[in-house]
Amino acid sequence: MIEIKGLRKSFGKDEVLKGIDLSIDEKEVVVIIGPSGSGKSTLLRCMNHLEEPTAGEVIVDGITLSSEANINKMREEVGMVFQRFNLFPHMTVLENIMLAPLKVRHTARGEAEQTARALLTRVGLAEKADAYPDNLSGGQQQRVAIARAMAADPEIIYFDEPTSALDPELTGEVLAVMRSLAGEGRTMLVVTHEMDFARHAAHRVVFMEQGVIVEQNTAEAFFNDPQQPRTKEFLQTYKQRSLL
Ligand code: ADP
Ligand code: MG
Repeated sequence: MIEIKGLRKSFGKDEVLKGIDLSIDEKEVVVIIGPSGSGKSTLLRCMNHLEEPTAGEVIVDGITLSSEANINKMREEVGMVFQRFNLFPHMTVLENIMLAPLKVRHTARGEAEQTARALLTRVGLAEKADAYPDNLSGGQQQRVAIARAMAADPEIIYFDEPTSALDPELTGEVLAVMRSLAGEGRTMLVVTHEMDFARHAAHRVVFMEQGVIVEQNTAEAFFNDPQQPRTKEFLQTYKQRSLL
């Protein structure tokens, strides 16, 4: 489904991604973990050309990212959920979710609304269709952002620390929605510090540091039998804080 080969990204003379190779299969849930500043967000941003890679290839669903036309086509296949929810404040929840289907997919309004309402039910917010984002909690806003990402029926959804801006008590409701998406066979690439999600919802875990993939393995092998000293050290810091 996704093939990344030799991906590099520099900002000035600072090389932030130093040759990333990663492939993601259909219906696979891949979690990326790693210290802050290791290049996780830059990787996601390069993967849908919000940042222009310095070198390497990103192939999504057979589409190689090179021309502008390809980039637009590929973006239709990718949904994104960010740490900050980025909902449009002047639009209702329903309008936020319907926007991409109407503007990008040219879906008929009636159909877009039906889909949007079904997605809101899916994330447990059917009764908030006509509310404005500012009147929702952070956890509710993030669930709307997930519904919005799904509305264009993407092949894969990228999540960049979707719960990092949330109070702990609101994190659970967002993770529950993400777990249920993973359970229904959505292809997902998730950057997170939530080790419990990584352990139980991911098929594969990737540990990144300083612009390289240090280690990747099935979730079970990754947590039970890490190979690299840096991975062990990193996991240890979570164990010490009883977060793993
Ligand atoms: P992570 O998401 O793992 O915390 P990032 O991908 O956000 O890491 O950042 C990796 C490095 O790239 C950091 O040192 C950051 O300062 C740098 N960086 C990210 N975006 C830019 C940018 N637009 N211009 C310059 N440096 C950047
Ligand atoms: Mg980041």
